[in-house]
Amino acid sequence: MQTLKPHAALLASPGMGHLIPVVELGKRLTAHYGFYVTIFVVASDSSIEESPIFGSASALDRLKIVLLPPVDISGLIDSTASVVTQLVMMMHEALPSLRAAISTMRARPTALVVDLFGTEALAVAEKFNMLKYVFIASTARFLAATIHLPTIDGQTEHEHRIMKKPLEIPGLEPVRFEDTLDLFRNQTDKSLYAEYTRIGREIPTADGILVNTWQDLEPSTMHALEDDKFLGRVTKAPVYPVGPLVRPVGPNSKSEVMNWLDMQPVESVIYVSFGSGGTLSAEQTAELAWGLELSQQRFVWVVHPPMDDDASGNFFNGSNGQDGTPNYLPEGFYTRTHDRGVVVPMWAPQTEILAHESVGGFVSHCGWNSTLESIVNGVPMVAWPLYAEQGMNAAMLVEKLGMAVRPRTRAAGRAVGREEIAEMVNSVMKSKGNGMRTRAKELQRNATGVVRKGGSSHNSLTQVARECEVKLYSLSAKALG
Ligand code: UDP
Repeated sequence: MQTLKPHAALLASPGMGHLIPVVELGKRLTAHYGFYVTIFVVASDSSIEESPIFGSASALDRLKIVLLPPVDISGLIDSTASVVTQLVMMMHEALPSLRAAISTMRARPTALVVDLFGTEALAVAEKFNMLKYVFIASTARFLAATIHLPTIDGQTEHEHRIMKKPLEIPGLEPVRFEDTLDLFRNQTDKSLYAEYTRIGREIPTADGILVNTWQDLEPSTMHALEDDKFLGRVTKAPVYPVGPLVRPVGPNSKSEVMNWLDMQPVESVIYVSFGSGGTLSAEQTAELAWGLELSQQRFVWVVHPPMDDDASGNFFNGSNGQDGTPNYLPEGFYTRTHDRGVVVPMWAPQTEILAHESVGGFVSHCGWNSTLESIVNGVPMVAWPLYAEQGMNAAMLVEKLGMAVRPRTRAAGRAVGREEIAEMVNSVMKSKGNGMRTRAKELQRNATGVVRKGGSSHNSLTQVARECEVKLYSLSAKALG
């Protein structure tokens, strides 16, 4: 007789950094536990369907990706709204179609797993008598800060936001203002703080909270989340560290940049990328170019046109210098660096690049997916946070994990200079002696072990899977009367 297997519905908010780990969670639930998985994706348009992530996951037998009807929020918020406020609004607008999609499913899913921006949908799970989980595609420390928010009074908020005092979180090291979350730094979008506070209040109402981290990576934060003396007071929902969930290297990963990497010596190339959305100012982009040149290291740089450059739309259309160098990079940059550097416009196969043996360092904005991809490949980093919770991630990489350096110039609005960039790149690339590479390799071994059978993250996810199975059996027993 075939055993019953739970069906989990996963809800992913817009953006590659959100979709990628949700898809990996879905893949793990099907591959390790035989679950049926439906991933509901919210997006502003249907172009996301062309992404290779869609294709590779849809090829799996028990996993289905459903694009909810694109939502249009243009008339609903003003133009100064932050990306997060826009995301929250899109997730809100997508609720009716999620509800409709679940209600018309022939077999009702046993559980709904939402990401950070989908917590409003926990009510949908409640309505349909499904188990409800939140998946935090970031650190336990970020989860702790978020669920602590609703307990902060006006005075504490003022002291952190305006007086720039560190933010105390029970059982955790305080968050320094210079590393803090966007919601404390953003002075224009008033709804940001309110939205995060709502999310911080909704997360603990779940039946469980899954986090893309692992026990050994954040032991003291995990303790604070579980202990009633600290954040265990705020959330009774169990916290399951199930990471690292990272996209594996794809099959046919041949491309120009990969061919070039094949020809470089082992651990000789620094990879530079600021994620799917990270953009630097024109001045900072130019300084980075000079810094890479000055370091004399081999590099692969994924370049986004600078934010304050009106000509950015012409990136591919010929607004370039004689040697093809885009106009916002120093003149002649391509000519001077062509024998040891590759510039990739907009998007590169990052997991493949970081897994390549020629890559020995990563200049990163410290988005959590990028950070995990660096760790699982044992690659030390230049931690260069730009927005969201990246400052907290960078602090952890440098101070707790010892596998990164970060710019000293952290004051807002000031560009990191070329000499400092060259110095950081060199210290990572020549890090054999200073321990960063050794630490990165230790973490790599640890990260690969915890997701194997018997590892702590595998055990955590097994607990979640068991809960879903128990729920499924109780539902089917009821149905049979
Ligand atoms: N990514 C990629 N190629 C790029 C830029 C990003 O494949 O050129 C992937 C990267 O591997 C990671 C995700 O997109 O899985 C970015 O997520 P992250 O959390 O690091 O940053 P975000 O883009 O959300 O700021």
